[in-house]
Amino acid sequence: MKQILSNSYYFPSQVVIGGYKIDEQLLLIDTGNDDSSVRKAYRDFGDIQIIAVLNTHSHADHCGGNAFIQNRFNAPIYAPSLEQAFIESPILEPAYLYGAFPIKTLQNKFLMAKPSKVTHVITDETPITIDFNGSTHVFDPISLKGHSPNQYGFRTPDDIIYLGDALISTEMVEKHPLIFTYDVTEHLRSLEKLKTLTAKGFVIAHGGYFEDIQSIIASNEKSLLTAQAIIYDCISKAPCTFDTLHQSLSERYNLTENVSQNLLNRSVIHAHVKHLVDAGNLEMTAEAGKLMLGDVT
Ligand SMILES: [Zn+2]
Repeated sequence: MKQILSNSYYFPSQVVIGGYKIDEQLLLIDTGNDDSSVRKAYRDFGDIQIIAVLNTHSHADHCGGNAFIQNRFNAPIYAPSLEQAFIESPILEPAYLYGAFPIKTLQNKFLMAKPSKVTHVITDETPITIDFNGSTHVFDPISLKGHSPNQYGFRTPDDIIYLGDALISTEMVEKHPLIFTYDVTEHLRSLEKLKTLTAKGFVIAHGGYFEDIQSIIASNEKSLLTAQAIIYDCISKAPCTFDTLHQSLSERYNLTENVSQNLLNRSVIHAHVKHLVDAGNLEMTAEAGKLMLGDVT
């Protein structure tokens, strides 16, 4: 792991794992894709004891190593409410994407982490006190929902904020401009909140360590608003179905999708449509076996 400053660390990889170390005790912020990702993250420390895990959210690439850490170290796991349900019952992720018990193709490690037991449920921004060999250290949960149902970031005692997927790097936004979102309304609110947060530094799970995140917030916001505008534009030209909308976005973004990716993108489209319907710009009707989306302005 790379030291950021004082006790805060991060393991740079495709999905960053955060660390906070006091002597031979380490707290992890998220656990990466699987057993081997999380082992790689802390192995440089040699004989280290993992004393707790803070999960930002329940996506499999953030809690994939939970079960391993829990079995090996009996470490308590802190996770936000609602995310807790997905971490403990990973079938919920492909089930909500599919809309029923999911086909076997969707029961894969990218959508389903090994189940683990959340021992401490985070319900608000009340500080979390962790005991390191008799000295207490306080971590502040920061509500950043939107990318997932109830994501939280964490501020360490030395003032580094681990953001999970509340932001993705500008390079990632350029590569995948249809960024994943569960609730556009909350996602935009969280971006507003991030604009006002100050800290010595920030860790972005798909991006790394940054001292200034303002330009990254701007690129994430632009990406969400652009997708929103494309969707609204398409529907305002003529009433259409989700399939037509998805085809249009597929052409616009040059998407190549397998079944999992198609359902993930479909979920993103649903999130944008929800925002527009609830804002009173669109209406959804059911007609001859089709869900029709139309402009009401
Ligand atoms: Zn995520």
